[in-house]
Amino acid sequence: MHTHDHTPITEPDGVPGYYEVMEMSIRELLADKGLIKPSEIRRQIEVLDSRTPQLGAKVVARSWVDPAFRARLLANGRTACEELGITFYDDTQLIVLENTPMVHNLIVCTLCSCYPRPVLGLPPDWYKQKPYRARAVKDPRGVLAEFGTMIPDDIEIRVSDSTAVVRYLVLPMRPSGTEGWSEEELAALVTRDAMIGVATLEDQNRRVQ
Ligand code: FE
Repeated sequence: MHTHDHTPITEPDGVPGYYEVMEMSIRELLADKGLIKPSEIRRQIEVLDSRTPQLGAKVVARSWVDPAFRARLLANGRTACEELGITFYDDTQLIVLENTPMVHNLIVCTLCSCYPRPVLGLPPDWYKQKPYRARAVKDPRGVLAEFGTMIPDDIEIRVSDSTAVVRYLVLPMRPSGTEGWSEEELAALVTRDAMIGVATLEDQNRRVQ
């Protein structure tokens, strides 16, 4: 029997859930057998925690100001992100989907919760839940409307279904009224939801009008 100096991961009612018990058991077993060191687990958690939508926003902003980078990003999302120092700690490929005046992209994982974690971090809860996973495919326009995103009928909505090895990132259109903005200012406009495709970016002209 060994003890823990941390609070166990528990359900809100204080009882660990099935998967929490399973995770703790396997983790302890692997450590006890010397197959993996607790420090390696900690390091991996630190890597995962270091990923936030700000990384994706940096990629998007760079692609808006650097057409050559944008071309490389659309050709191979992973290697272009790596150019910016964003490492991929797994075997996933990244396909970047470009929004245009005629096409709006939306990403989903219909099976579970596959998500471009190296560039966006952990997915939001709704992304992992069944209503979104089922309805994003059947009624994308309706789902987008519930997010407050109205896509006109003459704009095609393309839904891309992520897998264990192929992940997607939506490249939103650069808002009008941002001519001459710095890369940092542009990055600050890019939201997580726009890179999932459930939102678009507000045109900056509208704000000042
Ligand atoms: Fe999945």
